[in-house]
Amino acid sequence: MSSAPTSSATPSATPTSSSSTPPPPPPTTTSEETTEEPPPETTESSEETSEAPPETTTQAPPTTPAPPKTTPKPATGAVAGKVVAIDPGHNGGNSSAPDIINQEIDGGNGFTNVCNTVGTESTDGYPEHAFTWAVAKYLKADLEAQGIKVVMTRNSDDGVGPCTPDRAKTENDSGAAAVISIHGDGADSGDRGFHVITNGDPTEISAPEADASQALAVSIRDAMVNEGFPTSNWLGENGLWTRDDLTGLNFSSRPKILIECGNMKNATDANLMSTADGQRQYAAGLAAGTIAFLKSQG
Ligand SMILES: [Zn+2]
Repeated sequence: MSSAPTSSATPSATPTSSSSTPPPPPPTTTSEETTEEPPPETTESSEETSEAPPETTTQAPPTTPAPPKTTPKPATGAVAGKVVAIDPGHNGGNSSAPDIINQEIDGGNGFTNVCNTVGTESTDGYPEHAFTWAVAKYLKADLEAQGIKVVMTRNSDDGVGPCTPDRAKTENDSGAAAVISIHGDGADSGDRGFHVITNGDPTEISAPEADASQALAVSIRDAMVNEGFPTSNWLGENGLWTRDDLTGLNFSSRPKILIECGNMKNATDANLMSTADGQRQYAAGLAAGTIAFLKSQG
């Protein structure tokens, strides 16, 4: 049983510019997220609307055959003006502030957790926090190009924290229609692919949006597959998984997923995760999945 966490600091939601690739300061320590037995998942497909073809208005002479008739699909679920919150996992200053990020917090669902963690890194030393920050910025630009309002849970890659419950508070307070928490895993070198996590034991806070969160997860999974990313070969099923010990999901009152985009200890994944082209591709998949979900919600 859990109550709402107390928060000492709420980060501002001011967006930042979105075109540069961050430099990779190597952290001194790493931590990995724990894993548990995957439960079975059901899958469903998502739908996308297509653009209406241009109308032809010219009068054809009687001898010209009529062009084939097409019926434009009605515009469903305009996305402009909707709010999406992006949570880039970890932060570049975490490794130098153990006293802050190692503070114990209520993790929800009966778990005790720490404020935040350093994250993992590739075998070449490219850190997870730089990956999540880069993808978040590309994703933000992709969404804003559709008129979507984006709220970020951190505004730089050289700060400390915020603690995970404070990130959730930022997301919740924004009233976001969807929340995307971006991470990368550190596992055995042969493990590859992404998995999308939802709350496996919804809390009093997260339960009202449990179904929407699951729909968001499926939409993101489908879009990532469509973008060419393989589903995880070591966790979850068909790219979907549930966990009950993730603070950021336990304290979320919005439709929310956490994605482990790949395994930074796998050479193929790491090459995608540490290059701008790969990071743009992750963002494109996340944007497509988020937009498809928003449209499906009307
Ligand atoms: Zn992480």
